[in-house]
Amino acid sequence: MEETNLMKIVEKNLCSCTQELSITPEMEALLKNPMRELHVALPIRIDDGSMKVFRGFRVQYNDARGPTKGGIRFHPDQTIDTVRALASLMTWKCALHNLPLGGAKGGVICNPKALSPGELERLSRAYIRSIYPIIGPDQDIPAPDVYTNPQVMAWMMDEYSKCVMKTTFGAITGKPLAVGGSEGRLDATARGGWFAIEEAARGLGMSLKGATVAVQGFGNAGSYAASLAGSLFGCRVIAVSDSNGGIFRREGLDTEEVMRHKGKTGTVVGFPGSDSITNEDLLELAVDILIPAALENVITGRNAAHVKAKILAELANGPTTLEADEILSSQGVHVIPDILCNGGGVIVSYLEMVQNFSMDQWSEANVHSRLAERMQPACRAVDGLSRSYGTSPRRAAYTIAVKRVVEAMRTRGWL
Ligand code: GLU
Repeated sequence: MEETNLMKIVEKNLCSCTQELSITPEMEALLKNPMRELHVALPIRIDDGSMKVFRGFRVQYNDARGPTKGGIRFHPDQTIDTVRALASLMTWKCALHNLPLGGAKGGVICNPKALSPGELERLSRAYIRSIYPIIGPDQDIPAPDVYTNPQVMAWMMDEYSKCVMKTTFGAITGKPLAVGGSEGRLDATARGGWFAIEEAARGLGMSLKGATVAVQGFGNAGSYAASLAGSLFGCRVIAVSDSNGGIFRREGLDTEEVMRHKGKTGTVVGFPGSDSITNEDLLELAVDILIPAALENVITGRNAAHVKAKILAELANGPTTLEADEILSSQGVHVIPDILCNGGGVIVSYLEMVQNFSMDQWSEANVHSRLAERMQPACRAVDGLSRSYGTSPRRAAYTIAVKRVVEAMRTRGWL
């Protein structure tokens, strides 16, 4: 049976570099165990007057390199194991991009689409009240993830500020501009991803102008990835999808119009002038660049052999299983690993923290150039290591990240 537990997949990837790093079993034990987990029950008053109890988690994986950082996911299929794995990924992502931060993640088991705005606000606030003793600007800083957004971050920052009795913008990132948010945070994950794609294409001698693109997932990461494809590089986006299904148009989709359509109807499905396809079909399309930008485990041992893309850019966390990774590599698909590809989100979150700490507000151009300055060395380091060792970009990325975390642990005297 194929391994689909993301925690197990991340552990395996983490250990794939241990030989080169000569990591001892003691170190491995430290790297594989989250340092702190909080499980909370959240009783919420529902609009009909009844009370419902939701379950939430916050996992602080490793803070050797700095305060822990990572998003909060609201999803009906949330499990502690997924949150743990995502917290582990944040640790390696922050280290790879050389941010002075550790890794964490939070989650609440809920279906936010079925909650009213009032219920969503009460749930967001209750979650922060429950975890506030272990978070804070110099301890652990939450941000958005799947199905949470700037408004939810505003409520969370407000609730944290009430708990500590002072307005603390730096406690949460991904906030709206009116309350300490940063220019450039909304499309940061996608913009950083395109930066990594540009570097990969350069290495492959591939031109991006007119290249065909398919994007799976049309949330924050996916929708901006689709719109930046055309505006930054003149790529042709021929397919996009969301949880309801996908749309295809060989001549290319007007992604701004697709965004408006989704804004009105709640889904990309039914976009005028497009054909319907499934999420599965989308992953197997003959495109130059495939961007999974939704959830984990979508490219597996079952469909990897059918992936025809030249570049697979992992904008989602953990979209590729171990089995799929092997198949893709034997087919010569260039995989940009999640911890490299989607680092733009947390990079601009970090820039938001720096602005909050210094009571400053930077221009969008300033944020964009600082994002590029952070993405570039990480892309170059991964490329350099993977070429000199003849190893996959994923293994190279983990090697760089784990080495930095181990060095911090050793220097602090933990090892
Ligand atoms: N949720 C995003 C991620 O998975 C961003 C995290 C952050 O900004 O702290 O990288």
